[in-house]
Amino acid sequence: MAHLRFKAIEQISERPVVRAAAPSNKVSDYFGSDVFGMDQLEKSLPSDVYKKVKKAIKNGKKIDIETANVIASAVKNWAVDKGITHYTHWFQPLTGATAEKHDSFFDAMSGLEKFKGSALVQQEPDASSFPNGGIRSTFEARGYTAWDPSSPMFIYGRTLCIPTIFVAYTGEALDYKAPLLKAVDIVSQAATRVAQYFDRNVTDVSASLGCEQEYFVVDTALYNARPDLAMTGRAVFGHHPAKGQQLDDHYFGSIPPRVYDYMKDFEIEALKLGIPVSTRHNEVAPSQFEVAPLFEEINVATDHNQLLMEVMNRVAERHNLKVLFHEKPFAGLNGSGKHNNWSLITNTGINLFQPSSSARENLQFLTFLVTTIKAVHEYEELMRASIASAGNDHRLGANEAPPAIVSVFLGSQLSAVLDELANNGNIPVEKGDNMYMKLGIDKIPEIILDNTDRNRTSPFAFTGNKFEFRAVGSNDNVASPMTVLNTIVAEQLTKLADTVDKRIEGGEEKRLAIVNVLREYIKESQAIRFEGDGYSDEWVTEAKKRGLSNVKDAPRALDAYLTKKGKAVFVNQGIMTDVEIEARQEIKWENYVMKIQIESRVIGDLALNHIIPTAVGYQNKLITNANGLKGLGLDNASVVEAIKEVSKYIDTLNVQVRAMIEERKRINTMEDGREKAIAYCDDVKTKFFDEIRYAVDKLELLVDDEDWPLPKYRELLFLR
Ligand code: ADP
Ligand code: MG
Repeated sequence: MAHLRFKAIEQISERPVVRAAAPSNKVSDYFGSDVFGMDQLEKSLPSDVYKKVKKAIKNGKKIDIETANVIASAVKNWAVDKGITHYTHWFQPLTGATAEKHDSFFDAMSGLEKFKGSALVQQEPDASSFPNGGIRSTFEARGYTAWDPSSPMFIYGRTLCIPTIFVAYTGEALDYKAPLLKAVDIVSQAATRVAQYFDRNVTDVSASLGCEQEYFVVDTALYNARPDLAMTGRAVFGHHPAKGQQLDDHYFGSIPPRVYDYMKDFEIEALKLGIPVSTRHNEVAPSQFEVAPLFEEINVATDHNQLLMEVMNRVAERHNLKVLFHEKPFAGLNGSGKHNNWSLITNTGINLFQPSSSARENLQFLTFLVTTIKAVHEYEELMRASIASAGNDHRLGANEAPPAIVSVFLGSQLSAVLDELANNGNIPVEKGDNMYMKLGIDKIPEIILDNTDRNRTSPFAFTGNKFEFRAVGSNDNVASPMTVLNTIVAEQLTKLADTVDKRIEGGEEKRLAIVNVLREYIKESQAIRFEGDGYSDEWVTEAKKRGLSNVKDAPRALDAYLTKKGKAVFVNQGIMTDVEIEARQEIKWENYVMKIQIESRVIGDLALNHIIPTAVGYQNKLITNANGLKGLGLDNASVVEAIKEVSKYIDTLNVQVRAMIEERKRINTMEDGREKAIAYCDDVKTKFFDEIRYAVDKLELLVDDEDWPLPKYRELLFLR
């Protein structure tokens, strides 16, 4: 095994340079070339059909089968011209990856390439191989995928991919996308209703998302010499290197050439797929990086993020690299997140979270800002639950990551504007813009521009013209947090509009009615606003006083979906049914159990089969040495001490690993999904992982470097 480690290190120095070749020097020449977008659609359809389709897509309406036939034929011709022979319905099951089942265009009967509208619109993958959280036993097992025309079709690998949602025959959603599409739709309706108080020309609002994707990169040979990385995505052992991220010299430092070539390569592939990647830079930890595409409509941004991760995995292969999307691949170093930048934009081109130089538009800005804060306050537990995963548990609250407490950061000046608005009593209604001045809300743009303090410690921060949900894990499907955020904001916007309408009916002037509701909201949601250091211990104490939740583990965090209140916000707005919500949590608990179970097995196997034999071998060397010294009549006390220390850690490993296995056996007989997940969390992970790791990491420091089987942090992270 040690042999494998050194061979891997040797291999790295001999890695060939892999240069990416862009199809053209101009990105515009190939951006979206593998996408069957609206322009392709327009080219291939009669203009009346195209107009009909465009409208249907925009309004989320069904596309009739005759039109689907025309589109299917057009997309088939486009794909076949590009040498594509197969198509697949591409969907995002609750396993976390994406799934596809390939079918050929070739029709043996006719000897022609064929693609019917019916095959475009609906397919039947084998639902029984995907998790369904008990829906299987209660309902019909089979499911189908249904075309989502709002996300464009694309060519990936050698296949035409058709974005779809995945539903059971009984109608329950079995994927991430179906509830997301509904949430995006209702937030659009609610935001349109509220925006119309300010501008009658607004007929549509769309929710936008830009994901900043963090990731680590390691060499494939080293990765293969670390079974833990290969099996769990994270290093379950490993002592901190002498040079960690203390020096902060990696952040915005120069990107290592090999990684740079890799980035360029996957960016080219992403651009062909219409993913608007724009920024790239180093992150805080060594070998950690970030890619951030420009924001798009949430639905498309979600598909693009999933696709980008796949592209990054695939392209890494030709560079002999492995991408780690795990939230915490290396304990002691920065974890990886996926900042979700979110905003609402009207069909008239106004970002509703963009402060304006017009006082009237500023009241609109404040309306959306305050309503969002109120929604997050109301449902902070759901927000926490939406990002719950075994991987994120390792990250939240450690090494420069937001804690498991959800709070909102505004910046001191914007915060002061809200407080003033809430507290400055009865402002008389006046004609013109005088009222805004008196309310102190006529000068927000300057304030924001001045406000350079961007609190990196906040899980949900306002960053100038958007909110940024930073607690999202790097490996997460963003549909989960985005479904929650858009659902809760939709509900709050609707409540606001209902209250404002009532006040107006009661004779109150519209602007004042809005201001008065905002005043209430600001006061009611005070507790969620926090400007200080989110990483500090004081905040944990303070948050508790404020009544904010701080649920550190995923299995318990998920409970928030199942409370009466948690369920109601989804059920009442038609996002998910009771059954769907319950099934989802079952799947998440199952997933959690599997993850921790695998980690636990890997920890046990590595400790028993790799670490202990290595340590025993080293111990024997020491014993020989101690006896030799004794034979020569020399003092061997320090060697004997070392033998004792090594023995102590070997004992710890033997005892702890065996006890952990017993715990697993006990827990595996449990039936209840939630109880089982909690038992894995408390009685396997918390009880054993750190202690076993401590012993292994100590041994790593003691044992002869020549004998150590696993590539060390310094090799994984710093070899280029
Ligand atoms: P940071 O300083 O946090 O790295 P960036 O300016 O790099 O922020 O932007 C991060 C992401 O936010 C990008 O994906 C960008 O497209 C996205 N973004 C910018 N404006 C908006 C907006 N109005 N709505 C949603 N996302 C946005
Ligand atoms: Mg950011």
